[in-house]
Amino acid sequence: MKILLAEQELQAGVRRLAAQIRQQYGEQPLTLVAVMTGSVVLLADLMRLLDMPLRIGVIGASSYRGGTTAGELQVASEMLIDIRDRDVLLVDDIFDTGRTLERLVAHIGGLGARSVRTAVLLHKQRETEVTLRPDFVAFEIPDEFVVGYGLDYRDHYRNLPFLGVLEPQDLERDSPAVLSARSEPGDG
Ligand code: 5GP
Ligand code: MG
Repeated sequence: MKILLAEQELQAGVRRLAAQIRQQYGEQPLTLVAVMTGSVVLLADLMRLLDMPLRIGVIGASSYRGGTTAGELQVASEMLIDIRDRDVLLVDDIFDTGRTLERLVAHIGGLGARSVRTAVLLHKQRETEVTLRPDFVAFEIPDEFVVGYGLDYRDHYRNLPFLGVLEPQDLERDSPAVLSARSEPGDG
């Protein structure tokens, strides 16, 4: 596996993200709504860097059904806390086509939030399919399938502390036994 962003780079990016969010909202109360499951690591790191009165909710959305191509989007909001009249910041791992966040912004707005913005760890440099743009972005990345720091491939690799790019032999494997990383192409 090739490392795209090392653990310390990720930490620095999340600190920058938190600073941008703090600048936008000041000391105003804020409700983070994290899109499960990919943003679980980002949520844990980001929430501890924010010092305004903070509420945490989670929402489910899955468009990648067991592979690297997008399927139909499913929203699950049974675990969402009350967000009526709240300033909501949707937190997701990655903005790819943008369809997930566009759909969730509409969903949260429909539930009566006072404002809805979006923060993502990663923004893929590709043609988007929506007009929505994320308000806060930690990293612009190339259009490759990435895993780690919460992001999965078939529910694996979320626990990698770095962000990696899967290679063809990783994609063929059914379940990864060892989480190994390399930084130079060709030596793994
Ligand atoms: P979008 O709706 O913006 O196309 O896709 C957003 C969702 O697709 C993300 O929340 C994430 O779950 C998944 N996704 C998009 N690109 C990648 C990727 O490179 N790696 C992984 N693991 N998931 C991705
Ligand atoms: Mg996701």
